[in-house]
Amino acid sequence: MKQVLDTLHSQINQLNPNVKLMCVSKTHPFKAVESAYNLGERLFGENRVQEVDLKYPKPDKRSKDLELHLIGHLQSNKCKKAVELFDSIDSVDSIKVLNKINNYATNLDKKIDIMLEYNSSMDENKTGFETYEEIKEAALLATSYKYVNLKGLMTIGPLGGNEKQIRSAFKLVREIKEKLENELNIEIQELSMGMSGDYKIAIEEGSTIVRVGTKIFGNRDYSK
Ligand SMILES: *Cc1c(COP(=O)(O)O)cnc(C)c1O
Repeated sequence: MKQVLDTLHSQINQLNPNVKLMCVSKTHPFKAVESAYNLGERLFGENRVQEVDLKYPKPDKRSKDLELHLIGHLQSNKCKKAVELFDSIDSVDSIKVLNKINNYATNLDKKIDIMLEYNSSMDENKTGFETYEEIKEAALLATSYKYVNLKGLMTIGPLGGNEKQIRSAFKLVREIKEKLENELNIEIQELSMGMSGDYKIAIEEGSTIVRVGTKIFGNRDYSK
């Protein structure tokens, strides 16, 4: 794992030294998270609330500097747990979920970071806001809420797309970010784009966080 991480970091640094690496540990045991942590990684992504509930120590028992983000679709009945378990919810894809997150965060008196997810590949099977107007409405609401901090936008590139398609999907989300910043007069810090197969293109198109799973932890076994 050390060699893979070293290589990844040097590739990322060459393209843009400000880009952060998120280690996506879904389906892998907590031991794998600890190994990466012991090699210096601090940012982790998981895509299921239930899995994190079973796999990780409770938030107050985790290493203080371990930062855990939810990157998978969040059902509205899991919002409360998600607010309790994660430092950031990067996959906010509806106003309904955004409202629930703010309500639970208010009840818990816990300020939580969020990102809005955009469906940049127009894939029916994927989640995320699908038009600029929708994501703008969500961004406007988010900035009016006291307990959510709009930290960024997230997208999943078109899986199986060619380089041109992938690049234009990432470019689209970067442009949406810039448009939101201008029209709402806000600053959106992060652009979470790029996975094992397309992180280089994502960085070239302005990503600030790449979410890498397979390349670090190996193939996932969903049979268990
Ligand atoms: C699983 C997952 C990743 C990591 O994908 P790899 O191809 O294994 O690097 C990144 N982002 C999201 C949203 C994921 O669900």
